[in-house]
Amino acid sequence: MRNCLTVDVEEWFHVCGISGPFAFEHWDTLPSRVVETTRDLLDLFDACGTRATFFVLGWVAARHPTLVRDIARAGHEIASHGHLHRRVYELTPESFGADLAESRAALAAAGVADVRGFRAPEWSINGRAPWALDVLARARFAFDSSMAPMRIVGDPAYPQRPHVRATAHGEVIEFPPLVDRRFGQNMPLGVGWGLRMSDPARVLAAIAERNRRGIPIALVVHPWEIDRDPPRVTLPLARQFAHYFRLGGFQTRLEQIIRGATFAPMGEVLGLSAVDA
Ligand SMILES: [Zn+2]
Repeated sequence: MRNCLTVDVEEWFHVCGISGPFAFEHWDTLPSRVVETTRDLLDLFDACGTRATFFVLGWVAARHPTLVRDIARAGHEIASHGHLHRRVYELTPESFGADLAESRAALAAAGVADVRGFRAPEWSINGRAPWALDVLARARFAFDSSMAPMRIVGDPAYPQRPHVRATAHGEVIEFPPLVDRRFGQNMPLGVGWGLRMSDPARVLAAIAERNRRGIPIALVVHPWEIDRDPPRVTLPLARQFAHYFRLGGFQTRLEQIIRGATFAPMGEVLGLSAVDA
């Protein structure tokens, strides 16, 4: 069974809820690491013979169109991570629609016209933005991967398999990240610190168990998670943990996971046909 390997293409300083030195007005002066680290991921996926879905931040696409073209040319799927990395529930339907349009325009300028998938920064499509999927459907997005079946960022009651959600403007397929039950809670086994801290064998066992039940899963990685020389900065403690916990050796563990399961772009796993021009 084919699963989804996904990448949120963003800079190391695209951290939600951080102001001060990481505020938007400083982004153009902070050291950029996204091209080098994304190319390392491309090399890794190429070595493993794996294709993935890259949710590219529009702000990054506008500055590095060649990178976007090279991702697409390598056979990967390009999707949107929004334009300015804002939490959806902090936007209005109108400003969310504008951010989506801007991200699509940046991807189109980089040569990628058919963008049909979206992932919100920090899983921010949840009960606080009940209008968000409708905005996506109206903008003709076919799938979304922004609703985490976890407390705090999402809702543990959300389904843990791809499912269709109806909106006033049509259906959107929702593809959640892999979570696992631990300590009485749903933990992020397929994303962030949960993926980085886990033994590859444990992740692969969870993938195999879901696949036996006919359920494809999604893994999420960020270019900054495999940065060999990450800029060290002081973040609030919880952020520090989420950002830096067990980065060391992650690329090696990730490679073991990629080689131990089968992956394909999300649009293909969901059986979506090519977008009509
Ligand atoms: Zn992000």
